[in-house]
Order: sequence, then structure tokens, then C-alpha cells
Amino acid sequence: MLKTASDYFRSLFLFELFKGLRVTGGYFLKRKFTVQYPEEKAPASPRFRGLHALRRYPNGEERCIACKLCEATCPALAITIEAEVRADGSRRTTRYDIDLFKCIYCGFCEESCPVDSIVETGVYEYHFEAQGENIMTKEKLLAIGDQYEAQIAAARTADAPYR
Ligand code: SF4
Ligand code: SF4
Repeated sequence: MLKTASDYFRSLFLFELFKGLRVTGGYFLKRKFTVQYPEEKAPASPRFRGLHALRRYPNGEERCIACKLCEATCPALAITIEAEVRADGSRRTTRYDIDLFKCIYCGFCEESCPVDSIVETGVYEYHFEAQGENIMTKEKLLAIGDQYEAQIAAARTADAPYR
């Protein structure tokens, strides 16, 4: 009976509403943490691992020597490599696929690469619209490397020791 009366007066005087407004008011003048993405972006760690890329040397030659260490070390079995020997005796990949649906962004491929070819960029704004777009082919990975080479190279300075 007492509880019912208490509930009645609480609802009559909008007690819960004012209780909620007190919390809202308490935060009204405090520093805001909301980021207006995508116009504003939260800072990312230099160790963030995003979209993969294959890099080239300054002369345009692809770095990857098809050693397959990245494929062997990938715990998610996300990398598929096929290779052949060129006429000049060098070995290069004919196929380099990464299935981003399998990838867990552990960075082991990047760590294992002896020539700094496969890397993970800081790019996190990407999406897929059609079936199969999750497969990052060699052509796509090289194109990403070409597009972001300046950032990738800059991230490998003394200021960013984990890249
Ligand atoms: S980041 Fe990890 S899971 Fe993804 S492709 Fe590289 S080794 Fe495989
Ligand atoms: S990306 Fe690096 S680790 Fe992977 S096959 Fe090429 S050279 Fe070897």
C-alpha cells in the first residue's frame, strides 16, 4: 500500500523525469567526447593495423619475392600465393590473394616479410558491396600500396617504431 502511494506521488510529480534531466544537465556543460565522424576523426594508434598493401621499390619493381613466409605464418589461412620464376631468374607472385573475411589483422604477415612488402596501412575506411570484393588480389594490393606509399614510408620512421 505504502509502495503504491509512493509510486503514485513519484509519477504525479514527474520524479523520474527530473531525475533523468538532472543527469542530462550534469553533462550539459562538461567536455564533450562525441566525434562528428566522418568530418572529425578520433586519433588512431601508430600500431593500428588496417587495410593491407603490397609495396614496390622506388624503381617500380614489386618488393615481394614470393617466399611465402606470410602465407605460412598467417594463422587465419587468409593468404593464397602462387608464384613462378621470371625469364630473368627472379621469382615473383602470379597470384597474391588475401581474404579479408578470414583475416584477423594480427600483423603476422607484415612481421614475417623479409623485404617489407606486405604491410598493413592505417586505412580503416573501406567496405564491400558485392560478393567477392573481400578478396584482395595482387593488383588491388599493389594499387593500395601505390596510393599510400608516402604514408606507409612515413610510418616507418623513428617516430613510429612499431611500423
Ligand atoms: S594480418 Fe594476420 S590474419 Fe590477416 S593476412 Fe596477415 S597474417 Fe593473416
Ligand atoms: S609478401 Fe613478403 S613474406 Fe609474403 S611472399 Fe612476398 S616477400 Fe614473402
